[in-house]
Amino acid sequence: MIDQAKTILQETFGYPSFKPFQEEIIEGILNRQDTVVVLPTGGGKSLCYIIPAILFEGLTIVVSPLISLMEDQIGQLTQTGIPAVCLNSMLSPEAYGQNIRLLRENRVKLLYLAPETLMMPRTLELLEQLPIDLLAVDEAHCVSEWGHDFRPEYRKVQEFRTKIPHAVVMALTATATPQVRTDILTLFKIPVGNFFMGSFNRDNLFLDVRIKNNPQAQLINFIKKFPKESGIIYCTTRKSVENITDLLRANGFKASSYHAGLEDNQRRENQLAFIRDDIRIMVATIAFGMGIDKPDVRFIVQYDLPKNIETYYQQIGRAGRDGLRSDCLLLYAQSDTQTITRFISQKEENIQAVEHEKLADMLAFARARNCLRTPLLGYFGESFPGDCQLCKNCRPDQQDLTDITIPAQKFLACVKRTGEIFGTGHIIDVLRGSRAKKIFQFDHDQLSTYGIGKDLAAMEWKHISEQLLAQELMKATAPHGSLKLTPRAWAVFKGEKKVMAPRFHGEPIVTSNFTMASWDNALFDRLRQKRKQMADHMGLPPYAILTDKTLTELAQVFPSSIQSLEQIHGIGAYKKETFGQTFLDEIQAYCTENQIDRRDRFKTPQKKKSRSVSDKPPRFKYFGDLFNTGISARELADTNKIKLATVLTHLGVYIREGFVLRETREFIQLSGADPKTWEQVKLAFDEHGTLALKPVFLHLDQEISYDRLHLLRLNYLMESIKQ
Ligand code: ADP
Ligand code: MG
Repeated sequence: MIDQAKTILQETFGYPSFKPFQEEIIEGILNRQDTVVVLPTGGGKSLCYIIPAILFEGLTIVVSPLISLMEDQIGQLTQTGIPAVCLNSMLSPEAYGQNIRLLRENRVKLLYLAPETLMMPRTLELLEQLPIDLLAVDEAHCVSEWGHDFRPEYRKVQEFRTKIPHAVVMALTATATPQVRTDILTLFKIPVGNFFMGSFNRDNLFLDVRIKNNPQAQLINFIKKFPKESGIIYCTTRKSVENITDLLRANGFKASSYHAGLEDNQRRENQLAFIRDDIRIMVATIAFGMGIDKPDVRFIVQYDLPKNIETYYQQIGRAGRDGLRSDCLLLYAQSDTQTITRFISQKEENIQAVEHEKLADMLAFARARNCLRTPLLGYFGESFPGDCQLCKNCRPDQQDLTDITIPAQKFLACVKRTGEIFGTGHIIDVLRGSRAKKIFQFDHDQLSTYGIGKDLAAMEWKHISEQLLAQELMKATAPHGSLKLTPRAWAVFKGEKKVMAPRFHGEPIVTSNFTMASWDNALFDRLRQKRKQMADHMGLPPYAILTDKTLTELAQVFPSSIQSLEQIHGIGAYKKETFGQTFLDEIQAYCTENQIDRRDRFKTPQKKKSRSVSDKPPRFKYFGDLFNTGISARELADTNKIKLATVLTHLGVYIREGFVLRETREFIQLSGADPKTWEQVKLAFDEHGTLALKPVFLHLDQEISYDRLHLLRLNYLMESIKQ
């Protein structure tokens, strides 16, 4: 049977392999062993009952605490071709009746119910007549008074269980504390041997903790790094939720809020907007999150100190369910503890001491100077050796870092291919597919690296170039700043070494994604838009169609046939048939529009369309091009009624931008420099570079005027290109 389970995993869900424990758990369930499953958020608990549900002949009942969670899951299952329904008070009478019919006709595999609905007489009556094979109690910590979401009705599920003695029972939760575990095992009388607990290490989350000094600025700066991603900001009080929401909106972010003071329907509306990507940022109190299975939450900010580590862990757990890197930032101040202490003092006396202790643990965690995962996981009874390389203490340098391996490889390859004799400006031109004369002069449009870096702006490439220099993967050599690779670059080429760098924050922000990653950002964006359009049309959250992880793979692999979609993570038979062609068409259109040859998407056609007439060239281009027709600099100054120095400046920019000026002796002649002076000036430029004239002026004992240096610099730049 477990082989069949594996086939379903691959063919229906499109996942290549099981996550830790899934296989053992599923095998146990198929062998009809009652089981408790404790796996962290994103650990893949749902599949542990969904796959058996598909394989069992009878019905699987899933007890779930919230309607929003059920609807979410049913939406995702339906889009995977698995028949699932729910019964709840929100359904119209017609929909309710229709679901009952489907159940009676045994055309449904999974039935989702809240415990309240389950225990209603008419539900019990219905269930008596149905063949039930599996009872899955999701979010099972709700049965425990020790849990964070105690729901008394949840305990009644055990009464129901006695009515279906032949069915297998499984209880699932992400809450790891010992009391909760014990409560679950005891209530459902599950043998201790059938207890699965996975590691609680979420190894795709970067954990950052900072002392609040200017929290609003700290917050804004942090979320600016995620220009398009979803995130949640947790605050302790309703008031601060509202203040922060206002602050974010005033700063142009699409944010909404969630707290217990809002009307039910308002809360629901805000939550739906978040799930459907209509708003990006949710500012919330602790009340928010339980109903959220959104897989692509990319960042969590805790704007105040949580009251204990369970809460901290639970909140950061909402980030990165899809396994992609996500960032968690905790901001705290000593004064936060006063608010919490006040809350605690209002509680019953016998639990006050425990709560104080928990708060002390939380504070100790925030202040830890070693690997944050050691105290965090230690709290849940798991020993962690430290050195996680993904928290602010293991990587103080990394708090802001992002993986730039792929762009780094592109850049270094381009330096190599062009013979290690060009400076940064020219390399960027090649990468971005510039049509500067110099490119064609050297046939650099024929290189495989030509145009492979269009996804990033020139400024971003500049930033990357600086990082590569700083990390000594290449060096700039005098006199002209030609870039050369160092031996260290090879490890990067071979994929043995990752390159991490601070994120780029300069203007203009061109890339869309949170990392400059290995996929094509422009295509990823386009697929995302398509997905949003389809999702809105179908009334579903976008991730129910395809997840971000799937889209990033599509934007990396550029599949061209329905068949090749089978290789993509998260695309099973149903999604392939239902959505495959739409996304393939989108990819095809993108390739056509951008003249991307799919056999080697990094090669762009050699001859470009000519520049459209409406593009007005910049001033430097205007002067440079005129100069190249044979008009002298002096004539250009006279006919345009501007200073000679201004013309010279434009011509200098022309050269720096990678264009080539015709050969001329005009500059030397105008400067009146004799050969000996010219040699001295050259040496001075070799030493001080060409960006500022003052150091050269001083170097030459102030004997050569700035006007003359202007002219000589141009000559110097011209000559350096020829070399
Ligand atoms: P949990 O309930 O444990 O928090 P979910 O069941 O919601 O986690 O699963 C989290 C994500 O991981 C979902 O998007 C799910 O489809 C995905 N997933 C589950 N099992 C696998 C697997 N074996 N391989 C890849 N992705 C998986
Ligand atoms: Mg779950």
